[in-house]
Amino acid sequence: MSTVLQSYIGGRWVGAQPAQALASAIDGRVVAHTHAERLDFGEALAHARTAGVRALLALDFQQRAQRLRALAAWLTERKEQLYALSHHTGATRHDGWIDIEGGTGTLYAYAGMGANELPSGNVVHEGPAVPLGKQGRFAGTHILVPRRGVVVHINAFNFPVWGLLEKFAPSFLAGMPCIAKPATATSYLTEAAVRLMTESGLLPEGSLQLVIGGTGDLLDRLDGQDVVTFTGSADTAATLRAHPNVLRQGIPFNAEADSLNCAILASDVTPDDEEFDLFVKEVHREMTVKAGQKCTAIRRAIVPRRLVDAVASKLRERLAKTVVGDPSIEGVRMGALASKAQQRDVAERVAELARGNRIVYGEADGFAPKGERTGDGAFFAPTLLLCERPLETASVHDVEAFGPVSTLMPYDELDEALAIAARGKGSLVGTLVTKDPAVAAKAIPFAAAWHGRLLVLDREAAAESTGHGSPLPMLKHGGPGRAGGGEELGGVRAVKHYLQRAAVQGSPTMLAAVTGEYVRGAKVQESEVHPFRRHFEDLQIGDSLLTHRRTVSEADIVAFGGISGDFFYMHFDEIAAKETQFGQRIAHGYFVLSAAAGLFVSPGPGPVLANYGLDTLRFVKPVGIGDTIRARLTCKRKIDRPTKKDQAPQGVVAWDVQVTNQHDELVASYDILTLVAKRGA
Ligand code: NDP
Repeated sequence: MSTVLQSYIGGRWVGAQPAQALASAIDGRVVAHTHAERLDFGEALAHARTAGVRALLALDFQQRAQRLRALAAWLTERKEQLYALSHHTGATRHDGWIDIEGGTGTLYAYAGMGANELPSGNVVHEGPAVPLGKQGRFAGTHILVPRRGVVVHINAFNFPVWGLLEKFAPSFLAGMPCIAKPATATSYLTEAAVRLMTESGLLPEGSLQLVIGGTGDLLDRLDGQDVVTFTGSADTAATLRAHPNVLRQGIPFNAEADSLNCAILASDVTPDDEEFDLFVKEVHREMTVKAGQKCTAIRRAIVPRRLVDAVASKLRERLAKTVVGDPSIEGVRMGALASKAQQRDVAERVAELARGNRIVYGEADGFAPKGERTGDGAFFAPTLLLCERPLETASVHDVEAFGPVSTLMPYDELDEALAIAARGKGSLVGTLVTKDPAVAAKAIPFAAAWHGRLLVLDREAAAESTGHGSPLPMLKHGGPGRAGGGEELGGVRAVKHYLQRAAVQGSPTMLAAVTGEYVRGAKVQESEVHPFRRHFEDLQIGDSLLTHRRTVSEADIVAFGGISGDFFYMHFDEIAAKETQFGQRIAHGYFVLSAAAGLFVSPGPGPVLANYGLDTLRFVKPVGIGDTIRARLTCKRKIDRPTKKDQAPQGVVAWDVQVTNQHDELVASYDILTLVAKRGA
């Protein structure tokens, strides 16, 4: 690694002159310098807006998902290069795993979501279209398209790799180029990750740029197509959110800020319960993993008054056994804070918290980090405080010591515990440990108003629990109020932050053309060739088949009952059926479904390889004995999937099916999902 870090701007690495020295959190030795050269943010933005947007939109959602998967594999193969630097940030191997493999895991997760949930092309149809006129000639729907600007991702120091990748993955998938600005203190690790990413050859030109150091006039140069995302302190979030240009141009600003997350031990739990130990373990883990430098860490442990001493004593025991020191030494479980500046900051915050509250475990309990020169590092003693009157003490709900620090808070009634939790004024995550589903049913909906994510922990969940502190790609990360009011991750929701939603009105035919999906009422193409006989490439949206008819007889109902074993009274009991809203026996809905398949399939072997399910099934009207049904099958949506190893080339085709009766009334409606072979297969 060069000792001078470089920014990656305009497709080239910039920086040769050293500026700020960045010290190892372990022993204070200089790891790298930032560069002194000023960056031309005009150039960076122009590069992203022209080359970046062009190259990203030359690919579609499916192809970008494929790139993400390849990138994840590329980084995974080279992860040891990142681990080699990670310990300088104060991280243990386990802390590094959260950062590095948590980051690549997020890339994999978004690759999967992109492949499974996003279309081919660059338009997401957020249907269904709604009719706006009585004759079915005018309708409205929504589409989502990539914003044609740049995302500026500003990150915190605590997760130099995960922070980069969890923001990059959804914006890349959405098709927006990004400029990543890591926190300076640990930017050497982010720089190493970006170098690997650029070396992969998988990044389209201009899709990722890196800023080492300050952002200069970058925010002044943004416009209404751009987005800013931020993770860090609530103060910086407030400053950047109110940046005049961000306000003036209506630039979306997503913030994930520090929050005073809590864990509540419910009063149904006794010290003999497994749940008691689960609570203690969770608080201990959140205090010590990453030396407590997690935005999700438990800062407030809310426990029944009668259990305070028992919880405090168990936590003291565990903390006393936690070996702190240089992570390269065998047996070390907790590393250092990220920098000397953080060490000073946490010390000041602990001093503030200690005013009026008691330290029940801390530096005085024999703190001696293991390893040579750790005195020059940024180590901090795990510190547990006790606040006797949490509802009357403001500091414990306001002051965040971003380190291995947590405060115990007693309560008498569940309502009081919930009121204490809410005093955090908005948190990323909260945990409730209880054995009682009734407690969860009362507490969680109340607490949800103040929390981004809630974990209910009991012995059943414990075996597989991912823990209080771990944001997951498929679940929302971000909380209301003090936590910044933003949302990250949460599956494909995160991709939608970078897509612009527009309502579109017009005839169904026009809406089908715009969305790339068949919309009911749009013109269709019928031909002599059955749609099931066409290969993936030859199928057009709107290719349609109107089947012959079939009159439903009593024999059909009896036969279907015999085959399925479904003798429900509605189909077999004339007297009971007469008393229902239908006034007669009706055919099984699943018979209608099966009969429709019999009407529309083309039975011989052909390009349709499999039927893997159906969506949005509705039995709209009953089908009685003597009714005559027919089906219309229309090619609705095509997703061109990359071919997997050992698999014949194929794509996904969704078909719109409408089953109607002799009065042309819709009786059943659904989409069927098939895999269709490509021509060369
Ligand atoms: P900051 O809010 O100071 O910094 C976060 C990011 O914002 C960094 O990349 C920083 O860059 C950048 N930044 C700061 N000021 C500006 C600005 N005016 N314009 C553009 N970018 C800016 O947080 P820190 O990382 O210094 O941590 C401070 C505190 O924040 C911690 O002690 C903790 O309380 C909290 N925190 C919360 C986290 C969370 O995930 N919610 C994570 C980490 C910290 P630079 O590093 O170059 O200053």
